[in-house]
Amino acid sequence: MISLASDTETRPTQGMRAAMVNAEVGDEQRREDPTVNRLLEMCSHILGKESALFLPSGTMCNIVGLKTHTSPGRVVFADRMSHIIRAESGGPAFHSNVLVEAIPSPRGIFRAKDLLEAKERLIAAPYPYGPAPGLVCVEQTHNFGGGTIWTLEELEEVHHVSKTMNLPVHMDGARLFNAVVKTGIKASDYAKYTDSVWIDFTKGLGAPLGAVLTGSREFIERARYYKHLFGGALRQAGIAAQACIFALENNIQRLNEDHENAIALADGLADINGVELFTPDPETNMVFFSVQRSGMETEEFLEQIQARGLRMGAVGGGIRAVTHLDVTRKDIEEAVRIVADSLKG
Ligand SMILES: *Cc1c(COP(=O)(O)O)cnc(C)c1O
Repeated sequence: MISLASDTETRPTQGMRAAMVNAEVGDEQRREDPTVNRLLEMCSHILGKESALFLPSGTMCNIVGLKTHTSPGRVVFADRMSHIIRAESGGPAFHSNVLVEAIPSPRGIFRAKDLLEAKERLIAAPYPYGPAPGLVCVEQTHNFGGGTIWTLEELEEVHHVSKTMNLPVHMDGARLFNAVVKTGIKASDYAKYTDSVWIDFTKGLGAPLGAVLTGSREFIERARYYKHLFGGALRQAGIAAQACIFALENNIQRLNEDHENAIALADGLADINGVELFTPDPETNMVFFSVQRSGMETEEFLEQIQARGLRMGAVGGGIRAVTHLDVTRKDIEEAVRIVADSLKG
């Protein structure tokens, strides 16, 4: 089976597993796991932040991040298609009791004027009964926007406007390294325009679990309280942290291959009758398309390709294919053939 359903499907390699076996461990909750501590130092350094916190998942980084930044009743501004809105089971409402104001934008990347408009829509002064803003969220790269990259200028501008509104900026950096590898811009340069930013080790980086939230020392101390409150304090977590360190040391530059494979996939799909590409020039490791023009329903298409040994996913009315560590160029060529065959019926 060739799976392009998600880059979360990467399996730990033999090298990563071997590193995990020999990890030095201690009690993470007591801050005594040396491997976790080393990972946190590495992440703080890479992202240019004072402090960091190890969490089991990216979703938990968003849960703890939003909780630490906001108080109940506050407004969180985020793109309409952002992961916190679309894919976290209503977490912002459940855990943080916040209102989320969804900003419409074409590729998941909103501009400063969109943020200002959203704020004015919501809180028309001098009307005194509107909700109070609390946080601005950005997603790098933007998943459902097509694996799209925020430029430094776009981030700077949104950060600047957020500061004029006295709001912190939280970056969901699940795939921040995809942007870093694609543009050559350092992670810490993107992170400059955030108050908190986290990275995920279970996407293209290939680790079995783990994500790291970073920010100021004071922010991370409060975040640690919520991590414990939500049941996220760990014990001998160095086993997992070692896989994350291995990923930082071995799996970042190779994301380039995933980006090249995504371009090859898009090029291949572009030649197939009935395929409409939403990402003709994939920015990172995602290709979005529709097969509606072929007359085939999305669900039927996904069943057809699955029967031929290929998995993709349905996302937001379209089909998403994600390249990753466990997908080779030959797999991509095979995937294009399978899609073509499936649409021929
Ligand atoms: C995958 C993802 C998450 C959640 O990360 P998990 O580690 O799967 O919990 C959050 N945001 C974005 C943009 C993602 O793609």
